[in-house]
Amino acid sequence: MFEYRGFMLDSVRHMQRIEEIKKLIDALAVLKFNKFHWHLTDDQGWRFESERFPELNTVAAVRPYSDFGKTRDDEPYGRVYTKSEMREIVDYCAERGIDVIPEFDIPGHTSALLSAIPSLSCSGKDVKIKTHQGIFKDVLCLAKEETFEVITAILDEFLEVFPSEYIHIGGDEAPRDHWKSCPDCQKYMQENGIENYAEYQNCFMNRIIGYLESKNRHCIVWNEAANGSNLDKRAIIQYWKENPKPAVKFINGGGKAILSPFSYCYFDYDYNITPLNRTYSLKPYLNGLTEEGKKNIIGVEGTVWTEYIIGNEQLESLVFPRIIAVSKLALGENNKPYKDFVADVHGIRNRLNGIAFCDEKLWKKPRISTAYGWLKFVKDHYTKEFIKEQIL
Ligand SMILES: [Zn+2]
Repeated sequence: MFEYRGFMLDSVRHMQRIEEIKKLIDALAVLKFNKFHWHLTDDQGWRFESERFPELNTVAAVRPYSDFGKTRDDEPYGRVYTKSEMREIVDYCAERGIDVIPEFDIPGHTSALLSAIPSLSCSGKDVKIKTHQGIFKDVLCLAKEETFEVITAILDEFLEVFPSEYIHIGGDEAPRDHWKSCPDCQKYMQENGIENYAEYQNCFMNRIIGYLESKNRHCIVWNEAANGSNLDKRAIIQYWKENPKPAVKFINGGGKAILSPFSYCYFDYDYNITPLNRTYSLKPYLNGLTEEGKKNIIGVEGTVWTEYIIGNEQLESLVFPRIIAVSKLALGENNKPYKDFVADVHGIRNRLNGIAFCDEKLWKKPRISTAYGWLKFVKDHYTKEFIKEQIL
């Protein structure tokens, strides 16, 4: 059994009501999960109520409209969860043996934050909160001392609400474009002899990791952070992107990791792309890990991103039953043949009160290929404009 048995929920792209989150938590408790990773900040919104920076509760929390692929909604969307609501979730989880790990994603995925506090960007110019999916060039300027001061002040507020030993600080998908043309960033790199941007990013991340360590908290980062060889070994990487070399090096070198490879553990993808039997087939190691390295895998996590997920029934039926396969791996109970596992799923389903499940006909990989599944996903969700933006 792994010490870290996690589930991640994206409450930024689309939010869930507190009662809906509690219903998921009840199900996670039945499945013996002990970590609820709550994704609260991103380009398209800000969900953490701040007393210190009230503009986060207004400017950063609300996007003017939503344009996620083919489901445009012209109404303004979003709000923060109040501290009292977040504490309610923390308490509800604690009663069920689950820690809440909040994610404050830096230095990328910060458009919403920068829309409220633009002085933290390289140019200092206005930044727009984003209304569609994607990876965006608006990132934190890491050379300004103000950035460190504001981020740590916000983190202090996170620590007051979330007592968990772990805090997730992102570290993924941060384009370098602005750093390349920013005099402050360039000066910092030159003065400190930093030659590549992955290491530059980690100089900042390591300061944050050190700051949180001084408060007796450990940081989790997405595995791109290991692309810079200087990542503080006290950080735990969450492996999602399946290009494992730097991650494997980090883990073999003594760093700890949680596994969430996207082609097994990302439940926003259709069952055509990631059928239940694929998730069930996940093994808890990576190619290239030494025997010592394998011991540094401390857990697994299933995730769900909500760009295309609007209602809770849709969310639940994407998560269930695939999350049961993750729970079996997390508990070390994944040795049965698939058909026996499916029999278990039926038994477990009876204990998950009112949770919407995916139709059983769709669980197992259909005769159509994964490529077809991807084509269908792209056709269902991506507009021509989005595809063009991603290519150019
Ligand atoms: Zn800069």
